[in-house]
Amino acid sequence: MNKDQCLRAVNQLMEDRRTQGKIESNRRREEISLSVPAIAQKERELQENHAAFFRFIADHDGDEDKFMEFRDKSLRLQDEIKDLLVKNGYAADYLDPVHHCSLCADEGVIDGQLCACYKQALSEQYLSQSGMQKLFAKCSFAAFDLSLYSDEEDGSGMSPRAKMKKILDFSKKYVKSFGEESPNLLFVGEPGCGKTFLSVCIGCELIRSGKFVLYAPVQDLLTDFEAATFRNKEATMPTEEYLDADLLIIDDLGTEFYSSFVETTLYSVINTRLTRKKPTVISTNLSEEERGECYASRLNSRLSYSFTNVGFPAADLRAETLKRKAIRRKKQ
Ligand SMILES: [Zn+2]
Repeated sequence: MNKDQCLRAVNQLMEDRRTQGKIESNRRREEISLSVPAIAQKERELQENHAAFFRFIADHDGDEDKFMEFRDKSLRLQDEIKDLLVKNGYAADYLDPVHHCSLCADEGVIDGQLCACYKQALSEQYLSQSGMQKLFAKCSFAAFDLSLYSDEEDGSGMSPRAKMKKILDFSKKYVKSFGEESPNLLFVGEPGCGKTFLSVCIGCELIRSGKFVLYAPVQDLLTDFEAATFRNKEATMPTEEYLDADLLIIDDLGTEFYSSFVETTLYSVINTRLTRKKPTVISTNLSEEERGECYASRLNSRLSYSFTNVGFPAADLRAETLKRKAIRRKKQ
């Protein structure tokens, strides 16, 4: 499902909720008309009063006293209905319109702004397409554990933990001010230093704020382009979505099997997104020198000059986490 299809699915969901609300309202009315006929009678009087009021204002514009008479009668009938509902064991608002979201009455919009319920539904749709579903629950800035990095100064004047805190703060600002002017990011560092985790944190936080984000290990992305180009298998994601997502995260650049098709595809994805002002986050274990050996100069120059290079401090998060788990098990 692409971005437009996600939007259409959410609009359909809103429409379904409005329909379900009407069905439930009608069901309640029928139930009450059988169980408490006196309420049904009052409801009919209320409707007649409304109809008479609209006939009246069409003919007698500006008669204040008569207007108040209609209004008072309407309020009195509504109070009587609520009293009868409560006396018969129902909630006072049992006959009010039924909505899934009372803020926007399931319209999805309040005063021209998207309602929180609409954003939530859209996030869920986007997440289901993002490639980050399994990581979503555990990847958030709040879950990023700086204590996994050493706080001993490493000869550079700073500790790995202090360096990582700077990167984490930068990432939080990146999400907060995200837009088409946001820089492309190249996360560089040794395996296990937290590049994937942090890039997915950024992606998940942006999805929570209603952005369409795709995450793909580089080989998966290339497989989809290969499928689209050679039609040799089914692509999991239409390639256009990689070019148009609000943010694309390409993980583990440098682990793909190299070919001229790979080089051309990566250059084309990165370049098209640059032209469209769609930011990209790439993580890689390759140093600048190694990238020079792996890729032709036009791809390399894009990576060097169109991306903000973010160097991660060395840390082995996987080893550190396993070590801590082992210590916890011993203590139990
Ligand atoms: Zn709403």
